[in-house]
Amino acid sequence: MKKSFDAAAKALPHIQDLHPYVPGEQPQGEGWVKLNTNENPYPPSPKVGEAASVEVEKLRLYPEPLSTKLRQAIGARYGMSAKNVIIGNGSDNLLDLITRCFVSGPGAGHTVPSYSLYPVVCGMSGQQLVDLPFDRSMQLNVEAMAATDAKVFFLTNPNAPTGVAFSPGEIEDALKAIDGLLVVDEAYVDFGAETAIPLLQDYENLIVVRTFSKSYSLAGMRVGYALAGAGIVNVLDRVRDAYNLDRIAQAAALAAFEDVEYFEAQRKKVMATREATREELDALGWFTYPSATNFLFTEPADGSDQTGAEVAADLFDFLKERRVLVRYFPNHPLTCAFIRVSIGTDAQMQAFIEGIQSWLNNA
Ligand code: PMP
Repeated sequence: MKKSFDAAAKALPHIQDLHPYVPGEQPQGEGWVKLNTNENPYPPSPKVGEAASVEVEKLRLYPEPLSTKLRQAIGARYGMSAKNVIIGNGSDNLLDLITRCFVSGPGAGHTVPSYSLYPVVCGMSGQQLVDLPFDRSMQLNVEAMAATDAKVFFLTNPNAPTGVAFSPGEIEDALKAIDGLLVVDEAYVDFGAETAIPLLQDYENLIVVRTFSKSYSLAGMRVGYALAGAGIVNVLDRVRDAYNLDRIAQAAALAAFEDVEYFEAQRKKVMATREATREELDALGWFTYPSATNFLFTEPADGSDQTGAEVAADLFDFLKERRVLVRYFPNHPLTCAFIRVSIGTDAQMQAFIEGIQSWLNNA
C-alpha cells in the first residue's frame, strides 16, 4: 500500500492561498522574435565568457559566500563601501529578503500597475500588500503613498509595464513622507532614468535594488544587487542563503560590471532602437507612454469599434501567430488596452512593425 500525504491540505494556510508568480512565456524552438520579457537582445560582454570559464575549473569548491569582490566593485563605483551592498540571486531574491526581514502588520505597499512579483513575495511571507492605484497619467501621488502606512513600499522606477520614470525629486518627497522603508526597484534605470542612489546619503529608509539581467545582458545568470545603509545590509545578510551566488555568476557579473565601454555601447543601442520604434508607433497615431526603459507600452488602434482590450488581445494573438511574441496584461483596466514590447535588435523591431502593418491591413 502506498502511503498518502495530502500536500495541498497540509501546506501552511498562507501557502495554500498563494498565487505563484507567472513569468513571461519562454517559447521553445527556433524562429521566435522574442520581445516579451525585457531581455537584452545583445549578448553579454565577451569578458563574461572568459571570466566564467576560469571558474569552471574551480567548481568543486564552494563559492565565496559574500560575493565580496562584487560588493567592493559596486560600492566603489557609487562612492560607497562594500558594507552598503548586498548581492542577490537575481534582484527577485533581494525583494524576497527585504519582505521577509521588514514586512509585517499592515504590510507592504506598491503602485498598481507595477512589478507583479511584489504580491507574490508578500504572499510567501503571509503578508498583505496594499494597492496604490494609478490613474491613466501613471503619475505618483506621494500623499496617497504615505497614507498607505506601509512598512515597506515597493516603487518600480522607471515603472513597469508603463516605462514611465519618476524624478529624484519625487523619490525624495516620498522618502520624507513615508514612515517605512522605500524600496526603489531600478531594474530598468540604465535605459534613461535617474537613479535614487545619491539619496542614500541623507535617507536611511531607502533601499535601491538593481539587476544585471537587463542592461548587462545577464538574465540567465541571476545576479541582482541592493544598495542601502550598512544596518539594512546587515539585517538582509542574516536571512540570505549562505552561498546564494555561484562562482560563475559572481565572476560573470564582475566582468560585465567592469567592462564599462561595452555596457555603454549596448545600452545606447537599445535606447536608440527604442526611440526609432517609438517614432514608428507615433506615426500610426497610437498612444505610447514615454519610456525610460528597454520596452514600450503602447495602445493599439485599428479604427474598429471593438473595445481597447479586444483590440490589444487581437494584436497580441496576430503577432504570436507570426512568431512575434510581446506581452499583454488583460487583468487590469489601466493595462488591458495596451501591449508591452521589449526593445530587440533593429531587425527584430522591424519584424514587429511589419507584423503591425499586416494586422492593420487585415483589419
Ligand atoms: N524588478 C522588475 C521591475 C522587473 O521587471 C524584474 C524582472 N522582470 C525584476 C525586478 C527581477 O529581475 P531579476 O530577478 O532578473 O534580477
